[in-house]
Amino acid sequence: MDTASVVIIGGGIIGCSIAYHLAARGCRDVVVIEKNLFEGAENSSLSAGGVRHQFASEVNARMSQYAITRFEHFKDEMDADIEFHQDGYLFMATSEAQMASFDDQLALWARLGIPVERYSPADIAARVPGISLDGLVGGTFCAKDGFVDPHAIFSAYAKKARELGVTFRFQTQATGIRRTGDKLTGVQTTAGSIATETVVDAAGPLAPAVAKWFGVDVPVRPYRRQILTTMPFDRLPKELPMVVDMGTGLYFRLETGALLIGMVNRDEPSSFNTAVDRPFADHVIMTALERYPLLEEAQMGRSWAGLYDVSPDHHAILGPVDGAPGLILATGFSGHGIMHSPAVGDNLASLILTGTSPIDLSGLRLERFARGEAFAESQVI
Ligand SMILES: Cc1cc2nc3c(=O)[nH]c(=O)nc-3n(C[C@H](O)[C@H](O)[C@H](O)COP(=O)(O)OP(=O)(O)OC[C@H]3O[C@@H](n4cnc5c(N)ncnc54)[C@H](O)[C@@H]3O)c2cc1C
Repeated sequence: MDTASVVIIGGGIIGCSIAYHLAARGCRDVVVIEKNLFEGAENSSLSAGGVRHQFASEVNARMSQYAITRFEHFKDEMDADIEFHQDGYLFMATSEAQMASFDDQLALWARLGIPVERYSPADIAARVPGISLDGLVGGTFCAKDGFVDPHAIFSAYAKKARELGVTFRFQTQATGIRRTGDKLTGVQTTAGSIATETVVDAAGPLAPAVAKWFGVDVPVRPYRRQILTTMPFDRLPKELPMVVDMGTGLYFRLETGALLIGMVNRDEPSSFNTAVDRPFADHVIMTALERYPLLEEAQMGRSWAGLYDVSPDHHAILGPVDGAPGLILATGFSGHGIMHSPAVGDNLASLILTGTSPIDLSGLRLERFARGEAFAESQVI
């Protein structure tokens, strides 16, 4: 039987980042199990690539600060261009209550040293020419936010991890664990077993199924999210922030001369369905046309759907679990997994190897739900 210090189940951006950071910290005896043919083949390839400081909770904002600094220096560290466009994120409020919540968050961001401006409707019009101000009360704008190419990130993490000695087993599915008493002794896969005392559950929306092998109930559920794109068209400005309408849940940003558009269907129940919902896509287009009328001149392009792995408080669930020796959770990213991947990878690697991490992750452990210590992240799309 093969052996590994750490087996990571899931070769998405989170599994790749944890693998790289373990190896960079000297733990190279790591195996990543991925059921697809290559890394990042599922939700990590389907995201909008948005990266932002503007979170309502301190731990999420700190994870973003940590991650964005790493993205800014990614080329030097990883020798890969992740096309980090720091064109900003504009959150827009359509009610006084939403604006009051932005004001609370502005105080948090100021305390953390995150440069976010409070915007009037006139500021919004100046930042996004052609936008309809209908119903808008105001907003917030952070020029250091933006978007990245997720593919470049997970490919770079996987490549460097491999160079440092990590093994990736593709087209291999983890199917169970081996235990002696309570002690974890290995992982079973469709290509044989691997002896290990540490398993990282980075299986995305399938993370609860992996945790079940340990007798652990992880309250993460899959929710479909879809993205539409236009064909390139001339009337778009050369620069545009990620624009988020918190009233409708609509967001859009530039994508190589075209527009990438997303919106959450707040009425849709949890499921593993990843087919594009055409009637909802029509609703998204109508909503986008109302907010950004110059879209009238656009032709629609590709569309796709993937899954968010959503936790009850929209925070990730990270770290070891009481009563489940050997299990480390890395799931529940609730739509933030791309932007937080460097922070999750480095901090979890540190936690696994030393028992402590640069960012205190204790508040993100699974036990917070049983203890009634969950704290909601309200700035979610
Ligand atoms: C439409 C959409 C837009 C998004 N926009 C953003 C955004 O703007 N910014 C942002 O930060 N995030 C965004 N996200 C969220 C982001 O994509 C996820 O948080 C991130 O990809 C999670 O990465 P992961 O590695 O945990 O999961 P995944 O990418 O799902 O990877 C999990 C992997 O585990 C593998 N696996 C599962 N079970 C097993 C098993 N038993 N054996 C072997 N392999 C297994 C799967 O094959 C999969 O490859 C978006 C997501 C969607 C769908």
